[in-house]
Amino acid sequence: MTELTSLTIAVALDKMRAGECSALELTEAHLARIERLDGDIRAYLTVSADFAREQARAADAARAAGGERPLLGIPIAIKDVLSTKGIETTCGSKILRGYHPLFDATAVARLYEAGAVMLGKLNMDEFAMGSSTENSGFFPSANPWNLDHVPGGSSGGSAAAVAANMALATLGSDTGGSIRQPASFCGVSAIKPSYGRVSRYGLIAYGSSFDQAGPFARTVHDLARILAVIAGPDPLDSTSMPTPVPDYFAALAGDIQGLKIGLPKEYFAEGLQPAVASALRAAVAELEGMGAEAREVSFEHAEYCLPAYYIIAMAEASANLARFDGVRFGARVDGADLIDSYKKTRGAGFGEEVKRRIMLGTYTLSAGYYDAYYGKAQAVRTLIRRDFDALFSEVDVLIAPVAPSTAFKFGEVTADPLQMILADELTISANLAGIPGLSVPCGFDAAGLPIGMQILGAPFTEAWLLQVGAAYQRATDWHLRSPELG
Ligand code: GLN
Repeated sequence: MTELTSLTIAVALDKMRAGECSALELTEAHLARIERLDGDIRAYLTVSADFAREQARAADAARAAGGERPLLGIPIAIKDVLSTKGIETTCGSKILRGYHPLFDATAVARLYEAGAVMLGKLNMDEFAMGSSTENSGFFPSANPWNLDHVPGGSSGGSAAAVAANMALATLGSDTGGSIRQPASFCGVSAIKPSYGRVSRYGLIAYGSSFDQAGPFARTVHDLARILAVIAGPDPLDSTSMPTPVPDYFAALAGDIQGLKIGLPKEYFAEGLQPAVASALRAAVAELEGMGAEAREVSFEHAEYCLPAYYIIAMAEASANLARFDGVRFGARVDGADLIDSYKKTRGAGFGEEVKRRIMLGTYTLSAGYYDAYYGKAQAVRTLIRRDFDALFSEVDVLIAPVAPSTAFKFGEVTADPLQMILADELTISANLAGIPGLSVPCGFDAAGLPIGMQILGAPFTEAWLLQVGAAYQRATDWHLRSPELG
């Protein structure tokens, strides 16, 4: 049965269409593997086995009746940041324990309409705040390549589930790197779409002006397939863009002859782990061999990204998390009066990192500090956007490492929250500017941990990024390697 769990979506669909396996068999194979491996990896917070079987049976019936759909019978799983009707949705936080949403997030509803089978909800840093899953309110997930190492975060469960063949694809969310960084740490492919490309309806908000949901899968082809389903305007999200969704598949076959690649020198600076730097150089050389032209460029305000991002993200988080008070959603700790109940619920329900960010965000938004911090950070954000506008008038894509290092060990970085923040330095600029970013595997370090390459483009150029990623995956096999998990 195990080989059914290592398929790409494309091959799984072919097999089902040819009658070589049913959606139910595919689903059962995944549920069995989750049962066998997830005790160690802990990618899942909830396994919705009965729901999945029901969807799989419906998929088989639909196929038998001739009703083909883009993801009919494909087992997927969803980061617990996305609302799922009737299925517990915690956002990795104890404060939302017992919360069963009354509706599906639009991205989830679109996957269901396309025929996908939902295996369960995936672990994450609490409210998507973190880079390792160690901030999960429940337990950390492990990296399938080495269980002593983190899978990255905040969508660590989404990356680990694909890497360990416990789902054919997953959804995650990226506010400052949370799709690209865990994909890189776990050796899978993933894309953070442009801001406004995928509806945020039902995506529990962290930093509303940054958050985007996006897919993880084994190949760029499979990413294109999922993105085509979830992308596009949504009347329920006024920040979703009316820009038409291009044919992502048409782009995949194209070559990259003459592609202009910019290598931001600030992103290849000292501090990169040597194995990461050399894997990136080799990947760029590979693309040059296919006809691309690479040159160094400069990203003027790169050093201001971290402070601007953390000020704005925490400010937005402090406003977004005010709704969790024990009255409307999830768990409540009763107190002597209403205010006491709020305090006790939040005191017990929120973890350390979430409390720290609510306090810092409230501080930067308070009268007297607003202009000095929040207003300034917004002004810096505009400069960063302009840097990217200028860069994309010179080159077609930018290429950089996803993270300065490969996956670190549990506890190694957590003890120092500032170190954890520094690990985001290469990903957050894309969120500040709202641009798309693709992460694809491009090598391994000496310890056998995966390395990822990040390909960034101008707003709404996902098709372009997928084309470059697909060309790279035709020429290399890093994405086809899997950890030995027995
Ligand atoms: N690590 C970053 C943060 O903690 C990004 C997280 C994310 O993208 N959700 O804010």
